[in-house]
Amino acid sequence: MKYNRTYNFSAGPAMMPEPVLEEIAAEMLNYRGSGMCVMEMSHRSKVFQQIRDEAEADLRKLMSIPDNYKVLFVQGGGTVQFAMVPMNLMKNGVACYVETGAWSKKAINEARKYGEVKIAASSADKNFSYIPDCSNLDIPENADYVYICENETINGTTYYHLPDTKGKILVSDQSSMFLSRPCDVSRYGLIWAGVQKNVGPAGMAVVIIREDLLRDDLPKFVPTYMSYKTHADNDSLYNTPNCWAIYCCGKVFKYLLANGGLEAMHARNEEKAKILYDFLDGSKLFTGAVVKEDRSLMNVPFVTPSKEQDADVVAASKAAGFDNLKGHKSVGGLRASIYNAMPKEGVEALVEFLKKYEQEHA
Ligand SMILES: *Cc1c(COP(=O)(O)O)cnc(C)c1O
Repeated sequence: MKYNRTYNFSAGPAMMPEPVLEEIAAEMLNYRGSGMCVMEMSHRSKVFQQIRDEAEADLRKLMSIPDNYKVLFVQGGGTVQFAMVPMNLMKNGVACYVETGAWSKKAINEARKYGEVKIAASSADKNFSYIPDCSNLDIPENADYVYICENETINGTTYYHLPDTKGKILVSDQSSMFLSRPCDVSRYGLIWAGVQKNVGPAGMAVVIIREDLLRDDLPKFVPTYMSYKTHADNDSLYNTPNCWAIYCCGKVFKYLLANGGLEAMHARNEEKAKILYDFLDGSKLFTGAVVKEDRSLMNVPFVTPSKEQDADVVAASKAAGFDNLKGHKSVGGLRASIYNAMPKEGVEALVEFLKKYEQEHA
């Protein structure tokens, strides 16, 4: 490999496409004749305005975002969205959440500060190893929205069918699957994604929100910055935004458009995930942690028969040049995150390594 880069299986921050990093490196000291780095640039300058506008336009193209949706770039990463969603969308003070793992639990706990949360379905009974049936949820008449974490980064589950929200607004945390497959935006009221999983640098979330959900009548306690309308009314330039992240994400959007868009990403991601899942399905040592129907194409948790052996595999993988295969501290085991930017060769090399380990430890 040209730069001696490692296959980094981190759940986030995670790998970015190498051609994007090369472009960023080339523009680092002098962005297109501006005489400065994007990090040094006024967010009110024409040159940055163009970076921002192109990023939005490219994302709109990539996801075919309908005109009646706003695209916002909001600081605070994913976690701030756990609060912004209930602050902005709870009118009646009631919302339904589907509990599928660590990230939906965080969202639930945060929402409880602002109103009543009804757990509409949960997979807690089986360690969050599946997506519960959401075809006939019990949704109260006064519920303001239905919330899902569409891909649970830690537990490795993903939705292949969206819940029937019975006419209520669907809100989705797409952090660890954003831009990994085509998405019909019109089925959602709000989509948000922390960008450091599948797009760019940490510290920012992309929010896609239907215009009619922007409100002037928010409770007084909601900080100005935490109102979606503040960002919508100001082109995400209400204050100094995360200019660097917007710039890097914009590059990734262009890269995805130039490489076949989300259909092509999906096909690649399916191919990569199949290589790893086929191996796990046939292995006597390693076991996937999720039921087949709900397995994520992005985050693949798996275990050996013991904690000690899990740790041994992690150590051996490091020695073999792989990085970040340790499972999240809350669940243990191993986890390979194989986002858009992970090359197929990386997954193949990992499977070769695991095969060899299995043979040597049979
Ligand atoms: C990482 C992650 C978050 C939190 O993102 P931060 O930027 O660290 O706050 C939220 N939801 C999901 C699904 C995630 O994977």
